[in-house]
Amino acid sequence: MRVAIVTDTNSGISVAEGRELGVFVLPMPLLVDGQIRYEGVDLTPEEFYAAQQAGRDVSTSQPSPGDVMDLWDRVLEEYDALVYIPMSSGLSASCQTALALAESYDGRVQVADLRRISVTQKLAVLDGYNHCVYVDPAPELLGAMEDKRKDDLKQEALLQGLKKKPNVTLDGREVKVYANIGNAGDVGLVLQNDAQGIGLFRSEFIYLDSADYPSEDHQFTIYKRVVETMAGKKVIIRTLDIGADKQVDYFEMHKEENPALGVRAIRICLNRPEVFRTQLRALYRASAYGKVAIMFPMITSVWEVKECKRACQKVMAELDKEGVPYRKDTEIGIMIETPASVLVAEELAKEVDFFSVGTNDLTQYTLACDRQANDLGKFFDPHHPAVLRALKMAADAAHKAGIWIGICGELGADLELLETFLAIGIDELSVSPTSVLPLRAEIRKSIAKTCTLEKLEC
Ligand code: PEP
Ligand code: MG
Repeated sequence: MRVAIVTDTNSGISVAEGRELGVFVLPMPLLVDGQIRYEGVDLTPEEFYAAQQAGRDVSTSQPSPGDVMDLWDRVLEEYDALVYIPMSSGLSASCQTALALAESYDGRVQVADLRRISVTQKLAVLDGYNHCVYVDPAPELLGAMEDKRKDDLKQEALLQGLKKKPNVTLDGREVKVYANIGNAGDVGLVLQNDAQGIGLFRSEFIYLDSADYPSEDHQFTIYKRVVETMAGKKVIIRTLDIGADKQVDYFEMHKEENPALGVRAIRICLNRPEVFRTQLRALYRASAYGKVAIMFPMITSVWEVKECKRACQKVMAELDKEGVPYRKDTEIGIMIETPASVLVAEELAKEVDFFSVGTNDLTQYTLACDRQANDLGKFFDPHHPAVLRALKMAADAAHKAGIWIGICGELGADLELLETFLAIGIDELSVSPTSVLPLRAEIRKSIAKTCTLEKLEC
């Protein structure tokens, strides 16, 4: 369960500090004599009371309870629950307001009414990762939290040492290090770990989190938020990749014997042009706000890519006609996840701006091993020379056509394979945000020209 921690603008915590802490800082009106009188954005409670006593009208720019609930609703689009922690000196007033508003959320909004918990002489731990507070934690929990804190400090020291430094090997080869995200709420972690961009935004979570087809505007708002927060850094957004292990009821897909080999990912989009068009419109509209790249999953054939590009052209023509801004030079790429895409990689490379290898699926389809099965043991081997040779074939094809190639599957973070990736000539690695710094540290210690392809041997 994902729980958002929320405090208010009266807490003295800035929005930027909140982002660092993993805490949302939202406006909250205070109840004064049972009335909401104060927005709390510009004035501290003390200033408010002083202003009020001096007879100044400070009740003009307050958000209504509806405004607060709109903000909470937005947070709850991405989280299962919200815990509001009033941290300000106007505690009781913020708390009363929050308690009143929380009542209409069926338990999804909890108010950590610290007045009711006796914290005197007790230890409270704020877990910014899971967005919750533990009062009087059990010794095991406290131990785990202390370990986490030590890891964080280590990570922080690593970060301070690496921040803004280029990701180059000792002999000067640059490898871009991007991060993977599943939803807009993860962007804070991407920035915190100083990733150079987002190499895979799994957009299907927007569909998985919706009760019905997400509208163009809904998607646009999410993509725009991510792109704007990344402030000019590249954001590669993968189009819908459902089917197989990710089923969405309202798509009403036929039951398949082998869904991993069935109608999934790009196949659904090409079969349902309206669904595809909605997403592409949202993506192109978001491209006006930063550096978006669009990536298509589960490609096996050149005709699929041509069809995707035609769909993009159509959407761009529509936006032109409507006078809606977008970036015409938005990069288009494909995922290399199937042996077929490796075998026709030379032809595919002529059609797109980049390749990104989905090693999770590439391993599954190359080795004929279900990635969901837990009992395949040594048969499921992402280090298998066949997988690594497939990577090399795709990289050679990409470079021959003058395009770049990255890895966005889990293998990208496998430090044991970093030298192999350098020898193959991988240009970008996109990994989970917490793997960014260790990977960067390792790249900066490597010497690309001494790396070998020995792991490709049987
Ligand atoms: C992959 O297959 O490696 C990949 C990145 O995509 P997903 O894991 O979302 O299928
Ligand atoms: Mg995949």
